[in-house]
Amino acid sequence: MSDCVFCKIIKGDITSAKVYEDEFVLVFADIAPAAPVHLLAVPKEHIENIDGLTEANADIMSRLFLAAKTAAKAKGISGAYRIIINNGSEAGQEVFHLHLHILGGKKMGDKANCAP
Ligand code: AMP
Repeated sequence: MSDCVFCKIIKGDITSAKVYEDEFVLVFADIAPAAPVHLLAVPKEHIENIDGLTEANADIMSRLFLAAKTAAKAKGISGAYRIIINNGSEAGQEVFHLHLHILGGKKMGDKANCAP
């Protein structure tokens, strides 16, 4: 996707603070951190969000979570992080390239407020 910011990061056209990379996944620091450690784990394949998963590409979810585990260890937050996926604009998704937010480095408060 030529206009996708995360695709540009994956291609190296936009710089990022890379924490982990393999054939399928890139993990880098969020540019506007919401916690002392705030990483994003993205598939190298452009998938918009959870709704873009199919039987053919669903394996990427386990790869994203394994990459998150490795990246969390590298950043010293093993066993103490929260993972969030915003799925769709109503849920707060701003970049339409599937990503896990990995948040840690402080005591987490209440879960997100989903009250109507
Ligand atoms: P979401 O609202 O779930 O789509 O999250 C998108 C996230 O991408 C936000 O937390 C942004 O701060 C982050 N973001 C946007 N552009 C960049 C960038 N160039 N480098 C790193 N993080 C970014």
